[in-house]
Amino acid sequence: MFREPRWWYHYWKRKGHISKGLESAYRKIDSSYLYDNREVAFNAGEENIVHRYKINLFENYALIRPYFDQSDKGYVIPIESTSCNYGGKRHWFLCPNPKCNKRVKILYLCNMLFLCRNCLRLGYSSQVREPHMRYLYMKDKIEELLKRKGGDVYTRPRYMHQKTFDELRDKYWDYEDKIDQYLMKHYPLFIE
Ligand SMILES: [Zn+2]
Repeated sequence: MFREPRWWYHYWKRKGHISKGLESAYRKIDSSYLYDNREVAFNAGEENIVHRYKINLFENYALIRPYFDQSDKGYVIPIESTSCNYGGKRHWFLCPNPKCNKRVKILYLCNMLFLCRNCLRLGYSSQVREPHMRYLYMKDKIEELLKRKGGDVYTRPRYMHQKTFDELRDKYWDYEDKIDQYLMKHYPLFIE
């Protein structure tokens, strides 16, 4: 489904994603903080299901993986360093959105994605047409509907037909899969 950027702008604005409170509303990672601390832990997920992750710093990338998972599964965010005039170095993330890759100091956590501020201000750019953004939107839409009716993706709303609920729930997980697939394909440095 294609929608005009203007439409997305209003959608995200309504959801409060475009506001002065942008920075405080999101969990974020700061590249210089990560450099000083080498490891940062954070929680992500919904109200009921929260997963703990950590970000470890390596020479020129940050590795994000589940906190209690000792394997190397995870994805990386490339890091670039630049020299300062007065000595020392500055460290930057490259936005993981393959269509953006902007050099930024701070990345924001949006669902399970770390994105730069430019990407989150969706109304202003063509990033809105990225497939995973659409899937995120569709997924949110289903979740909103279920919550409005008094349920969620795990619990059928009382006055909803089982068949309707099953269909919505299946779609929800389909979108989840699509987001994962997209990420696996487009995060070229994914480590197995
Ligand atoms: Zn970006």
